[in-house]
Amino acid sequence: MSRQQICAYHPNKKASSFCHYCERYFCPDCLNEGVKYYYCNDPKCMAAYHEEVLPDLVRCPGCAADVRPGREERVEKIFFCPFCDNTIDMTGPQPEVLRPMKYDCFICSLNVGDMALIQSILKEEGIDFHLDADALLASRTTVQSVRLYIRQDQVEKAQALLTDFEFYEE
Ligand SMILES: [Zn+2]
Ligand SMILES: [Zn+2]
Ligand SMILES: [Zn+2]
Repeated sequence: MSRQQICAYHPNKKASSFCHYCERYFCPDCLNEGVKYYYCNDPKCMAAYHEEVLPDLVRCPGCAADVRPGREERVEKIFFCPFCDNTIDMTGPQPEVLRPMKYDCFICSLNVGDMALIQSILKEEGIDFHLDADALLASRTTVQSVRLYIRQDQVEKAQALLTDFEFYEE
């Protein structure tokens, strides 16, 4: 048997592949499958492996819980934390907590004309909003109870835009 066919740690086992980092040959038990390559358990090689794939157990940067991402999530380096309901993006040098986008009810009970005007203003400014669908179906009168929801991080901008209009009604 040539050296390349034997595991570097197990002289009695055949090597299946080699470590992409240290380039030594190993048996399947000694290798970790990355996205493109295999890596052995040597700390330096594991560090290279974890640049490709997340470890089995990841400390969530959002809530500090220990999360076990799925195989696909480990490869994507983006995982969902079931403890804090956030999606964690670990692709960059700093982990990013992607909080689910929340919408606040911004205005309700407006007449159709005002609502159309508000929508055109918001659209023009690229503000993300949606209307309460149930209310939209509900009424044929000129005054309908439509709720307009605006993405939480854009509410302040929307308020500033609409400050000149006397839209607010309860
Ligand atoms: Zn190695
Ligand atoms: Zn081995
Ligand atoms: Zn979390």
